[in-house]
Amino acid sequence: MTKKIKLSEIVTDAGTQVRAGLNEATVADYAEALADGAKFPPVIVFHDGSRHIAADGFHRIHAAVRNGATQIECDVRKGGKSDALKFALGCNAHHGLRRTNADKRHAVGMALKEFPKLSDRALAEMCLVGHPLVAEVRASTGISSSCPPPPTRVGLDGRERKLPPPPMQRRASTDANGSGDKTAVKPQLPPPPSQVLDGTGWPIPTQLIPLWQRTDEVQEMLTALSRVKGALRAAQENKDKLFAEVNFSSALSQLDQAWTDIKTAKPFAVCPTCQGQLPDKCTLCKGRGLISEHRWNTCVTREDKEFRARAKGRN
Ligand SMILES: [Zn+2]
Repeated sequence: MTKKIKLSEIVTDAGTQVRAGLNEATVADYAEALADGAKFPPVIVFHDGSRHIAADGFHRIHAAVRNGATQIECDVRKGGKSDALKFALGCNAHHGLRRTNADKRHAVGMALKEFPKLSDRALAEMCLVGHPLVAEVRASTGISSSCPPPPTRVGLDGRERKLPPPPMQRRASTDANGSGDKTAVKPQLPPPPSQVLDGTGWPIPTQLIPLWQRTDEVQEMLTALSRVKGALRAAQENKDKLFAEVNFSSALSQLDQAWTDIKTAKPFAVCPTCQGQLPDKCTLCKGRGLISEHRWNTCVTREDKEFRARAKGRN
């Protein structure tokens, strides 16, 4: 629902500004454009029953205030601070100003503070960054080291997953086999820092870690594509003359297709057929040792998935 809301009633300091700071030049540019009669897309606020919490459009809001405006067009969504933050983290990567590294770290820090139980991967998706950055910020903020880490992490699907034990421990607890031995059901120690887990929580064989860590390269391509899509949509909505000849629906759907195709380059799981040990002979992972989330969802049998879940659950 779009409506005009008094600028004095919009909360901008609830901790939902995910940029490291306002860009003064941008506020000045926007203010000048507004004074010139430019029309910007509505800013996005979340209404929690009493407050309108800004989630997107901080530069536009400040530009309007600077120009002495009293109200601004808002797209009003239902929800509180968490909803506003989650939205802000996702949309800021897609449009407007290019994010600096400081912006990305700042966004990840805010997400970690608000959603400490979410996995690195879930937070990375929320903030549209690579998961190594989340792990790095998590380590540097001490969110996982100053207090004991939760024995489970929550994925983006909202399901809790147990962190698998380091290999040695798994062997020992498999022998215990649920015999009621208290040492076998103690909360998991966090995996040692050298242990990297795939998207299913499975430890990645050391020789595959360099390939796994190149996820960021793919993410950057995807983010670039998203940015192009955002710019095209804005051009379409604003009826930008420059793009008069562009067939928007064709361009957007081809970009969507490219996004989906390129996303399969993102490793998601250790190949359940070869376990990443003999990838050269493996048809499932095509020599990669790792497979995409798409392949995991569509080509892995239920038995293989259950086997992995059982092995992980036995700790
Ligand atoms: Zn394989």
